[in-house]
Amino acid sequence: MTTIFEITEQCLVCGTVSSHAEIGSTNAMGFSDLDTRPPEMRRSTMEMWVRECPKCGYCAESLEEGGEAEAVRKIVLSPEYRKQLKKRSFPRLANRFLCRAMILEAQGVYGAAGWAALSAAWACDDSWENYQKTDVRKKMETSSLCRQRATELFILAQKNGDEFAEGDGVQEAILADVLRRSEWFDAAVKSCLAGLEKQPEEIIQKILLFEKKLAEERNVYCYTLGHLVD
Ligand SMILES: [Zn+2]
Repeated sequence: MTTIFEITEQCLVCGTVSSHAEIGSTNAMGFSDLDTRPPEMRRSTMEMWVRECPKCGYCAESLEEGGEAEAVRKIVLSPEYRKQLKKRSFPRLANRFLCRAMILEAQGVYGAAGWAALSAAWACDDSWENYQKTDVRKKMETSSLCRQRATELFILAQKNGDEFAEGDGVQEAILADVLRRSEWFDAAVKSCLAGLEKQPEEIIQKILLFEKKLAEERNVYCYTLGHLVD
C-alpha cells in the first residue's frame, strides 16, 4: 500500500511556497520492466517523483534544492525550457520530467538527466495506453522521442564516466532496452555485446542475451524480468 502526506516547500528559484504530495511509503509487487520501471504500487506514484513550482515552473524532486539558484533560474527562464514545459503534444508529467532532464544536463549530471528523460517516456507510455486507437501512433511517437533523449543522455553519461547504473553490464543492458524500444536495433545489439564482454553475473548475462535476441527480431515491445524466469 502507498501512503501519502503533504509537504510545503519554498522554491529555490522564485521563493514561492507551495504544497505537494510526498510518498510516505509504497511497495512493489511483481517484476520490473527490463528498463527497470517498477511494478505496482510504486509504478503509480510517478506524479510524485518530480514537482513543479506553480509560479515559475521549476521542476525538481525537491523544489528547495538543485544547485546554485541563479544558474538554475537562467535555465528555467530560457525559451527552450518554457517551450518544453507547456508542450501540448506531450502529457504534462512528461514535460516536467523533460524539463528536469534539461536542468540536469546543463549541470553536467548526465546519468540523472537520462533517468528523468526515461521517466518522461514512461509517462508518455501511460498516456497512450489510455488513448483511442487512432491516436496511438502519435502518442507512441512522444514515447519514442523521450527514449531517444534518454539514449543521448545515457551515452553522454558513459562518455563522461558518470555511472548511471551499478554493476558490470547493467548500464549496457538498460541502454540496450531504451535503444531497442526506440527502434535503434543495431545499436541495441552493439550495447548487448559490449555488456557481455564485461562478463557480468549470470542474471545480467541472461538479460543481455534476451535483449540481443529481441533486438535481432526487431521487437519494440515492453518486457519484464518475469519473461526471463523459466
Ligand atoms: Zn518557483
